[in-house]
Parts: sequence; structure tokens; C-alpha cells
Amino acid sequence: MERLAAVASGQVRQLWRAAPAAVRIVVPASDTEFSRITGSTSDQVPALTRPDRTVVLHPDLWGRVSARGRQVVLTHELTHVLLSPLPTTPRWVGEGAAEVTAYRPTGLRPDQVAPGVARRVRSGSPPAGPPDDAALDPGRTADLSDAYGLAWAWCAFLVARRGAGVFTGFVRTASAQPGQTGRAFRAAYGAGPAGLGGAYETWLASWA
Ligand SMILES: [Zn+2]
Repeated sequence: MERLAAVASGQVRQLWRAAPAAVRIVVPASDTEFSRITGSTSDQVPALTRPDRTVVLHPDLWGRVSARGRQVVLTHELTHVLLSPLPTTPRWVGEGAAEVTAYRPTGLRPDQVAPGVARRVRSGSPPAGPPDDAALDPGRTADLSDAYGLAWAWCAFLVARRGAGVFTGFVRTASAQPGQTGRAFRAAYGAGPAGLGGAYETWLASWA
């Protein structure tokens, strides 16, 4: 676990130029204990980061994740530890940022990271923008991994469009300042998400 955490911390630092300070990782003894500690009854996530920046592993699901997958999960969670987005920030900002950070070092192709997105594009109904909060809420969505794929694709598109520096600057502002997501997005990308729909579709068509 220490090795995984050290690699995760390095991967976070590589993109964000800052590492999560003190990382606490808790492994509850049972699923019930996991629910009690996290307040989540979802059985779709192998780990969660609490508002106090403690990473809690789901004892059952974590045990089923491959070694490579564990690195992705932990780097995802440590991105949350670093950024700790406000509860009012749209979920796609934090989840997309965490997914982009976690998958960057893997060398996986886009259609491997987000197979659901690739399928939508091939069937002629590409996503037009980021997923909404309900889709990314473990307690409300039926297919969380598909929603994570949507958040990853949108954020990977933003990185491709203006580079990692502009993306991380936008995410930091949106995560830390209440109600600033729309304004920060327009400052970074020159339009709202809807205004980038055409460019997003073109980018998706290049890999999906
Ligand atoms: Zn997350």
C-alpha cells in the first residue's frame, strides 16, 4: 500500500505541480463499516475520499481490483485529496480531473479508458458535454463507470484543447471558489461547455 500511495502521490505531483500533503488511507473491516465511515451505501466504488481527505477503501471491491487498477484508483483518490473540491462544484470537475490524472501515466488508449463513450460515438450519438451531477452520484446512478468515462473524455478533451496548465488552472479555481465554475471555464476556454460541442464531437471522432 505504501508503494502504491507513493507512486500515486508522484503521479498527482507530475500533473498538478503539488502533492497531497498527508495521506490517510483506511481499510474498514467490512462493507457495513465502509458505509458507516463514508456515509455511502453504494457498491460501485472501490474507494472514496471523505471531506476530511481520508481515503477509505471498500474492503470487498478493493480486493477484486487488479494491481494496475489499484494504482489508477489510488491516484484518482489522491487527486481528490489534493484538490478537495467544494460540495457546490459540479461533480464532473473533480471526477474528470481525478480520472485524467489517474489514466495519464497508464498509456491506455482512449477507447480503453472510456469504452462506453467509444460505443456512443460509433453508434452515432456522441456525448455533447460533461455528465451531470446525478450521473456521477454513486447513490443515484446505475452505471457509475460509464459516467466516469464521460467525465474523463470531456476533461481529456479540455487538456487536448488548451494544454494541462490551462486545465489544472481552471480546475483549481472551480474547486476552491464557490459559484465560479462557469466564469472560470469561459476564462480558460473562451466559451461555455455548450459552445465547445462541435469541437468535442470532432475530437471524439478522432479516437472512438
Ligand atoms: Zn472520485
